[in-house]
Amino acid sequence: MMDYKNYIGGTWVETPASQPNVNPSDVSDVLGHAAKSSAELMEQAIDAAHQAAPQWAASTPQQRFDVLDFVGSEILARKEELGRLLSREEGKTLPEGIGEAARAGQIFKFFAGEALRQAGDRLASVRPGVEIDVTRSPVGVVGMITPWNFPIAIPAWKVAPALCYGNSVVMKPAELVPGCAHTLVEILSRSGLPDGVVNLVFGRGSEIGPVLVESDKVKAISFTGSVPTGRGIAAACGQKLKKVQLEMGGKNPMVVVDDADLNLAVDACLNGAFFSTGQRCTASSRLIVTEGIHDRFVNELTDAMKALKVGHALETGVQMGPVVDERQLQQNLSYVEVAAKESGRVIGGERLNRETEGFFMSPALVTDTDNAMRINREEVFGPVASVIRVKDYDEALAVSNDTAFGLSAGICTTSLKLASHFKANAEAGMVMVNLPTAGVDYHVPFGGTKGSSFGSREQGRYAAEFYTTVKTAYTLP
Ligand code: ADP
Repeated sequence: MMDYKNYIGGTWVETPASQPNVNPSDVSDVLGHAAKSSAELMEQAIDAAHQAAPQWAASTPQQRFDVLDFVGSEILARKEELGRLLSREEGKTLPEGIGEAARAGQIFKFFAGEALRQAGDRLASVRPGVEIDVTRSPVGVVGMITPWNFPIAIPAWKVAPALCYGNSVVMKPAELVPGCAHTLVEILSRSGLPDGVVNLVFGRGSEIGPVLVESDKVKAISFTGSVPTGRGIAAACGQKLKKVQLEMGGKNPMVVVDDADLNLAVDACLNGAFFSTGQRCTASSRLIVTEGIHDRFVNELTDAMKALKVGHALETGVQMGPVVDERQLQQNLSYVEVAAKESGRVIGGERLNRETEGFFMSPALVTDTDNAMRINREEVFGPVASVIRVKDYDEALAVSNDTAFGLSAGICTTSLKLASHFKANAEAGMVMVNLPTAGVDYHVPFGGTKGSSFGSREQGRYAAEFYTTVKTAYTLP
């Protein structure tokens, strides 16, 4: 059994570990215990990052490349082992866990390359003889608050660009998934980074999170999690005039129009709604279907959904693992109940028993809903999708945009005209044509509009906006 320790100033700090890391597929399998750190320990981590910041800011592109390339190579070499750990503590299936681990490795490799490619602009001034240089500098200490649903990929897509652009880091991972964060930082601790550049503090978000957010030594906060927590963090950062980046919820529409390839649409919706147990902020939770294809689509998707094998995340052939914990399972079931009360027709959505005691439920499809129902307004964050029947594409687009969120939006169509129109008019940061709303590449920007995101984009070269500050220098030689 592991004790997940804090990593502060280059040292693994002995802290009483009492927060259990429970396997959601089998609650008798406790992987270890994480520290419940005090505010003082968080302060120590911030001080360590603050002290180390100038040294890392002055590092060469080669040093940054070497660190990031080392971490990426090791993660990729160990992706099966890390994927297994991820599936054990978070509950996504083993192939999904291995896929996520590989993605984390690829993200480090991408930013290793970016470390060598940092460039600025050189312009002529409007004043004769004057030269202008526009360059990017590190921000300083960056605080990272991460959720449980992507326990290695999300920490990776925050830490890798932070280091690439010369920042130091304090990480506060989600309470439910300490194992992946611990392993990632263990690899980082052998990568050649100076002590204090990366720090890891486990504990209750509501207790130590605000210490990170409020500290004057922390210059930027990157947060992924729920809307209420995100709003609170943005408000606190606003008071401090601190840079902030938020990735929060989604209520992602998938439009299926009459001319869609039915098999493709069913596959895309099955994947988007139920894979990773629906625990993705990009999950397709509102399936908006035009009249002519509606009944065939619902029948086929129901059959495909019922055939999904739900069970222990590490069991071969399982297609949908458990829900992450009891609280989330109860939330999912209560949304199914609310939808039924609001006259939705519910298929599935029941608690399941398996050989081991875990948080299993059957995927749920709620048909005969309209967009005003709670099931279509609020994010469930589980394997629950609803179907909204609409007259035509125009109504589908209007319903699709009628939401407080704007992360990802999809359409299944064989019409180039409709696809182009949807890409231009969907109010979302990411648009998918004939592809699930979830499942994105690692080298391009990720993020949304409206209530889903705030601040500049994560991932790809666009990450530089958040992790650097721009300097304009004028010289008269
Ligand atoms: P989720 O539903 O994913 O658990 P949360 O927003 O509650 O969403 O959690 C996301 C992350 O935010 C976790 O790491 C959690 O510990 C942290 N967190 C929770 N409350 C606060 C807070 N008040 N300040 C800072 N971080 C917080």
